[in-house]
Amino acid sequence: LEVIRAVEPRIADAIGQEVADQREMLKLIASENYASPATLLAMGNWFSDKYAEGTVGRRFYAGCRNVDTVEALAAEHARELFGAAHAYAQPHSGIDANLVAFWSVLADRVEAPALAKAGVRNVNDLSEADWAELRQSFGNQRMLGMSLDAGGHLTHGFRPNISGKMFDQRSYGTDPATGLIDYEALRTSAREFKPLIIVAGYSAYPRLVNFRIMREIADEVGATLMVDMAHFAGLVAGKVLTGDFDPVPHAQIVTTTTHKSLRGPRGGMVLCDDSLKDQVDRGCPMVLGGPLPHVMAAKAVALAEARRPEFRDYAQAVVDNSRALAEGLMRRGATLVTGGTDNHLNLIDVATSYGLTGRQAESALLDSGIVTNRNSIPADPNGAWYTSGIRIGTPALTTRGLGTAEMDEVAGLIDRVLTTTEPGTTAKGAPSKAQHVLDPKVADEISRRATDL
Ligand code: PLP
Repeated sequence: LEVIRAVEPRIADAIGQEVADQREMLKLIASENYASPATLLAMGNWFSDKYAEGTVGRRFYAGCRNVDTVEALAAEHARELFGAAHAYAQPHSGIDANLVAFWSVLADRVEAPALAKAGVRNVNDLSEADWAELRQSFGNQRMLGMSLDAGGHLTHGFRPNISGKMFDQRSYGTDPATGLIDYEALRTSAREFKPLIIVAGYSAYPRLVNFRIMREIADEVGATLMVDMAHFAGLVAGKVLTGDFDPVPHAQIVTTTTHKSLRGPRGGMVLCDDSLKDQVDRGCPMVLGGPLPHVMAAKAVALAEARRPEFRDYAQAVVDNSRALAEGLMRRGATLVTGGTDNHLNLIDVATSYGLTGRQAESALLDSGIVTNRNSIPADPNGAWYTSGIRIGTPALTTRGLGTAEMDEVAGLIDRVLTTTEPGTTAKGAPSKAQHVLDPKVADEISRRATDL
C-alpha cells in the first residue's frame, strides 16, 4: 500500500478502507466471495502489460509464449474441472461471456449457413444483397429466457440490455403457487415461439434447475440451449450440482463468471461442445477487447484450487449454510420466496415479512454492518428499483469459515434489524419507499456482533 500511497494516497486509503469493510461487515451479497491470496497475487503482476489478441498459438502479436502458457492452463483446468469439451478463458466478465455465446450461436446457426449458401468463406466476400439479407436475418432471431422478476439476468434478452436489442425475446417465469420454474408452461411457450436460443440460469432463483428437461425442450423446438451458470458455477465445480442439475453435459454452451461461488478473480468464461468451439475461440476480437493475461493467470490459479478435494467440502458447506440461514429466518417468521433454498442463495420477501421495501431493508441492514442487496420478487408490487425482496447468499461467509450454527445467529441478527426497522417518510411527510427508521443503538449493537463474527 505504501508504494501506491506515494503516488495517489486517496487510492491507498480506499483500498485500506475496503479491506476493513470486508473484514468488519457480514458480506451476504450472493454474487460476492473472497478470492485467495494466491489468486489475488496472480492477478497483480506484469502480465497486465501484455497484448495477446487471438488464441493460444494463434496470436495477432509476437512475444506471447508466456500468455499462451497461462491461457492454456486456465482452459485445461476449466475443462478438467467441469468435464467440458472446450473452454475459453478470455471473457472479461459474465456479461462479456454471454455476448461471446450469443455471437457464437448466431455465427454458427445464422452466418455459417448464409456463407455456405452463397458459396463463400467470409462475410467480406458476400454480395451487397446477400450481406443485407444476412444482417436482416440477424435481427429476426428469437431468444427465450427467464423473466427478470423470477430471477433471470438482464443479459438474457431484456430490452434495456443489448441482448434485448439483438433478439426478439420472450420470457418464461415461475409458477405463482410454488415459485418454481414451470417446465410445462416453458415447453408450451417454446413450441409457439420457436426460439433460436433458450437461456437457462439466474441471478436470484433459490432452487435447482433441471437442465435435462431444458435440453429436451430445446431439442424439441430446434433451439440451442445456453446456460448462464454465473451464480452457481462453484456448486457445479464442487459437485453439489450433478446429474440433471449440472448444466455442462446438457447444454451446447455454458457461460460463467469466475468470481462468484467459484471464488476466482473477477472475470468470465465460456464452456462449449465441439460444435461451437471455433466460433467461441473467435470471441476476441469479434466481440471482446484484448485478453487480460493477468486475470487469466488468476483464473488458472483459482480453477486449480477448485479442483482440490477441499473445494467440494466448501461447496457443500455453502449450501448447508444457505439452508441453515433459511431455516433460521423462517423459524423467526420470515417469508422466503419458494419457502426455502436448494442452492447458495435465499430471497426474503421483506414486504410480506416486515412491511418494508427492499430498499428500506437493504439500508437498515447496511447501517447494522450486514451487506445485502435488494432484489425483485416474482410479480413485485414495488418494481425493480425499490423492490420487495432482499437477496442473501452464503459463498463469502462460508469462505470465512462460518458454519450452520453461526448462520442461525446471522438469521437472528437480520430478523432483529428488520423487525426493529420502520418505513420512513419523505421530507414532506409522505410515506417513502426509500427511507427507513432504525434505532442507532440497535444498529450499533448488531454491527459490533457482525464484526465479531
Ligand atoms: N450472468 C448472471 C446470471 C449474473 O448474475 C451476472 C452478474 O451478476 C452476470 C451474468 C454478469 O456478470 P459480470 O458482472 O461479471 O459481467
